[in-house]
Amino acid sequence: MGPGSIRIYEVSPRDGLQNEACVVPTASKAALIARLVDAGCNDVEVTSFVRSGWIPQLADAAQLVAMLPRREGVRYWGLVPNTVGIERLIQSGLSHAATFMSASETHNLKNLNRTIRESLAGLDEVITCAKAANLGVRSYISTVFGCPYEGPVAPDATLRIAERLLAAGADEIVLGDTVGLGDPRQVERIVEVLTGAGIGLSKLSVHFHDTRGTALANALTAWNCGITTFDGSVAGLGGCPYAPGASGNAATEDLVHLFGAMGVDTGVNLEKLCEAGGYAAEILGRELPGRVHLAWRGAQARASARKVS
Ligand code: MG
Repeated sequence: MGPGSIRIYEVSPRDGLQNEACVVPTASKAALIARLVDAGCNDVEVTSFVRSGWIPQLADAAQLVAMLPRREGVRYWGLVPNTVGIERLIQSGLSHAATFMSASETHNLKNLNRTIRESLAGLDEVITCAKAANLGVRSYISTVFGCPYEGPVAPDATLRIAERLLAAGADEIVLGDTVGLGDPRQVERIVEVLTGAGIGLSKLSVHFHDTRGTALANALTAWNCGITTFDGSVAGLGGCPYAPGASGNAATEDLVHLFGAMGVDTGVNLEKLCEAGGYAAEILGRELPGRVHLAWRGAQARASARKVS
């Protein structure tokens, strides 16, 4: 049996919207984030501070941050690629930063145009700078469960990177299943390798993708291993960048439903979260793939059909 309470880390405003074709108006993003916070999401990754023009969907980072509701106990996170990003994040008023790199060389090169060695040197500087400014820092490692170019990735590759990022000062490591290749046995093995090397469970979080329908099985396994932080994207917002049309991020409602049904405290109100997911579908003007989200929409449609007849 895993822990009695877990922490949900909501990624939809950044990881979700970044992978959507359309650019959502800043006010709609702020309204979505307000709904997520109202539902009880205390950690929300709201945007990214990459070079403007790089990701047009997130070019309004500073304006968005200025519009966010300030709530006690709510942490807003921004993704940063370098020290310039950290400076922009601090200027915007955020106090939590997320860094990223890959566990596989080819994915890191194609995605970041750097070798793993170069990324580690760069992130050492980024994290040092973030900690000097008292920011909370989480560090994503992508392709931990498989690389679209190289296939299997050795757990030791992840361990070496995790150790370096933690030594640089990162508060937590996020194990990312970038293309949805992970399976429960692999989750057990990777957590075992990392904790076996002395990394505490509280330093680990998981970011699963449901591309092949394994996100919940992997999340349940991670929970059984003692992991307490789970990344989710409301309604499964954000496709898989490597497989157009396929689902990407684990849907937050699916995670909250699963753990809630087992009596695990998530701190999130599922009904309110479903309403936030409904709002996300509305602003994007398309069907979103989350399973609980779709069940909720079906129930909504039946209820309104009954009202009409
Ligand atoms: Mg993702």
